Amino acid sequence: MSTDSDSGSDEASAVRQRHRDAADEVVPEQTGLFIDGEFGAAAGGETFDTVDPTTGEVLASVARGREADVDRAVEAAWTAFEETWSDYSAGRRQRVLTAIADTIEEHTDELARLESLDNGKPVSEAKIDVRGAAEQFRYFAGVVRENPGETMNAGSRYGQVITEPYGVVGQVIPWNFPLLMASWKLAPALAAGNCTVLKPAEQTPLSALRLAELVGDTVPDGVVNVVPGYGEEAGAAVTGHPDVRKVAFTGSTAVGKQVMKSAADTVTDVTLELGGKSPVVVFPDVDVSTAVRLVSSAIFYNTGECCEAGSRLFVHDDVADDLLEGLVAAVDDMTIGDPLDEDTDLGPKVSREQVDRTMEYLDAAREEGGEFLAGGGQPDDEALAEGCYVEPTLVEGLDHDSTPAQEEIFGPVLTVFRWDDYDEMMELANDVDYGLAGGVITDDITKANRAARDIEAGYIWVNSYHDLVPGLPFGGYKQSGIGRELSAETLDHYRQTKTINLSLR
Ligand code: NAP
Ligand code: MG
Repeated sequence: MSTDSDSGSDEASAVRQRHRDAADEVVPEQTGLFIDGEFGAAAGGETFDTVDPTTGEVLASVARGREADVDRAVEAAWTAFEETWSDYSAGRRQRVLTAIADTIEEHTDELARLESLDNGKPVSEAKIDVRGAAEQFRYFAGVVRENPGETMNAGSRYGQVITEPYGVVGQVIPWNFPLLMASWKLAPALAAGNCTVLKPAEQTPLSALRLAELVGDTVPDGVVNVVPGYGEEAGAAVTGHPDVRKVAFTGSTAVGKQVMKSAADTVTDVTLELGGKSPVVVFPDVDVSTAVRLVSSAIFYNTGECCEAGSRLFVHDDVADDLLEGLVAAVDDMTIGDPLDEDTDLGPKVSREQVDRTMEYLDAAREEGGEFLAGGGQPDDEALAEGCYVEPTLVEGLDHDSTPAQEEIFGPVLTVFRWDDYDEMMELANDVDYGLAGGVITDDITKANRAARDIEAGYIWVNSYHDLVPGLPFGGYKQSGIGRELSAETLDHYRQTKTINLSLR
């Protein structure tokens, strides 16, 4: 950690000072565990630091939850469920969800700056996250009353099929969209009538803690509990807890597999939103400048730290040269720098560890014969030296079987492939373990429809990317996950079906 404001360039010290000032304003005072409506220390008294990836400075010390803390949170959640929350009607839950949405919106600037400090994402994008978080609560406030159940007359029997919440659910989220992912988890869980224990990512615990603080008076004590900590400690304690009746996890496929295995021990329902390596297919009829904008945003939004990132480009031979020329120019035009600056397009990655991981993939790309059309390393700019920056990178000439083309890099790195035979291209597009999303760019509706159906993935954008509309389900095929978020279907992941077979005799 650097604390010497005289080191580095003048620009770097100005950024450092700006971040310290912003941190003074928005980093929450409450950084303990949030259990039963109160903030408090971890049972073991331990803490861990969360760091600003732009400056390398510590933003806050946060309570390091472990198994004993998770036990206490789960117990508080069950008490809240039994004594309070299960008595709330759908209408009353709807009012709570709406109030949470209002609160989030009222704190848009604060939450966006906090997210930008803790994660490194450009503040302009963090504001989109905050609006999306509020929108989650509004959407589930809207569908919460849609729970009619079914009835059936069967001779001398009368059948009722109703749904009931699980009671207490466990939720674990990653660092790339900390507040948004918290909202994707909390809103449907609460709407369906559950209490929850949420573990945010160790790199970015602050916005979930601040959200808990902000809604502390709106949500009855114990309904929402936030236990920050490390994955192997707090995370595993949440996902493996015998009294947690449903687990919802967003993160890497590797950890998702572990979560699924541990849930087997208690036969607990699991939904998983995991990694991706999504293809973007460009047809020859496109308007090149539109395609450049879409392809660039598909990979570089949120510094490439998007599970749905369009990280493999399949561009038709007829437009490949023009498109790549346009992409190189777009990369040249990008403003890389302080994420608190409204004009910044690309901020730092979330952590040094993530930079190292991306650099390993770039080394592999170099070794495996990749040609860098743009980027390929860290920016050579003294003002950015202390931040976790990686250049926006375009790499061509890799074999599709190569590691950088197959594995999720989770950084601003696009691997480029040209095609002229549709079937061969589609075979490659689908030749990955993942199946989260895909993009198709063409004005030909027939080609668009065919490609959208041929891509093996849970969410396909045609002529756009990243925009997610509540009500349209989001989730993965293959090793990208199980279950869907963002839609009425999500409520079903948070409740169980009960049949009452009533004999009329
Ligand atoms: P990760 O390492 O899998 O971590 C995700 C979360 O799981 C973190 O809170 C982590 O805690 C926790 N965790 C780690 N080990 C655990 C264990 N053994 N048991 C229970 N929890 C554990 O993923 P990440 O690298 O932080 O996040 C990036 C990944 O998330 C990418 O692969 C990305 O594609 C995926 N993602 C998917 C979606 C989607 O909707 N499909 C959305 C966003 C991100 P720590 O913070 O302590 O590690
Ligand atoms: Mg983490």
